[in-house]
Amino acid sequence: MTATLLDGLGVLVTNDPTHPHGDGTPLGRLVDGAVVLADGAIAWVGPRRMAPAVDVRLDLGGRALLPGFVDSHTHLVFARDRVGDFTAVTGGRPEAAGGIASTVAATRAADDAALRTTATRLRGELTRAGVTTVEVKSGYGLTIADEARCLALAGELTDEVTFLGAHVVPPEYAQDRAGYVALVCGAMLDACAPAAHWVDVFCDVGAFDVDEARAVLLAGQERGLGLRVHANQHAPGPGVQLAVELGAASADHCTHLTDRDIEALAAGSTVATLLPTADLGVRGPFPDARRLLDAGAVVALATDCNPGTSFTTAMPLVVALGVLALGMTPDEAVWAATAGGARALRRGDVGQVRVGARADLLCLDAPIPEYLAYRPGVDLVHAVWRAGTVVHRGR
Ligand SMILES: [Zn+2]
Repeated sequence: MTATLLDGLGVLVTNDPTHPHGDGTPLGRLVDGAVVLADGAIAWVGPRRMAPAVDVRLDLGGRALLPGFVDSHTHLVFARDRVGDFTAVTGGRPEAAGGIASTVAATRAADDAALRTTATRLRGELTRAGVTTVEVKSGYGLTIADEARCLALAGELTDEVTFLGAHVVPPEYAQDRAGYVALVCGAMLDACAPAAHWVDVFCDVGAFDVDEARAVLLAGQERGLGLRVHANQHAPGPGVQLAVELGAASADHCTHLTDRDIEALAAGSTVATLLPTADLGVRGPFPDARRLLDAGAVVALATDCNPGTSFTTAMPLVVALGVLALGMTPDEAVWAATAGGARALRRGDVGQVRVGARADLLCLDAPIPEYLAYRPGVDLVHAVWRAGTVVHRGR
């Protein structure tokens, strides 16, 4: 076993408020801290002067070290981009946009190799942006066979695979919504549940109503899947309340929330996952993270990487928007993109720098993590470790 000591740190973010040498805040910052990695895990965390003897020592030159980002919401498996939609909408011709249905048609027509190439390329982008854990959804197949193969491809990239057969009603079921919901709740979930860890449903205007969404979530739960909900993106509605009522791990988007929604999230176990680049992609508005946090809700930040509204893998930009557009403090945004994402996936082994956690780390070419928001859009990633192995070296 080779033990590696990372020292010469600027600030170390542990997300461990109980660390005896930390500052006691949720980020658990250590100044002049050090970390030992061994066998893919964090073996020791503490002040540099107390570090144990090791085989290899790496001096990080005064740079900040934090847990790798946990991106708990992506749609990486699809064919063909939608830059035509983007051009149409930003050019003032929204009626010319093809929407999700055009991605569904392209995905169905694509072979596995093409889908794999796109998804793998985007996963690589996420790694270079500091993401060490990613959730990946299906949702552009919308037939039994196409959803099953999209889940299998997602499973090549991550263990956090989500079945999103209830993304939208596909065109061939436009006159038979009930028939499509029955298909999802029956034969499609039978075929897909073994390849997934989660079931998700788009409960919103233009997608599925609350009764349809409830049926899909309960059918997934019966087959052992954890629950996630796309909720309240386009308009106020029942999605957030449904997610909390059913104990979903996460309600995602939360752009349009009532006081009752905020109270429910604060009182329940459901994480509010905010996706500010998706809000940016449709030119706002943004969710009010300040109200959620002040009420006591747990907030995560994620990219929502998808070819329509948020074709980005730039997790540092998501953190910057959390601060600059959503009203979060830098500490809250960094926590939401690391520990918050882990909470949204109910993972205890990632999103933190504690003994026993997976050695997933992000080193910034900056002394403190505030630079993520202070320098929006600038690539500050110096190095990324996943399970103790360097997976990217940047600036
Ligand atoms: Zn989404």
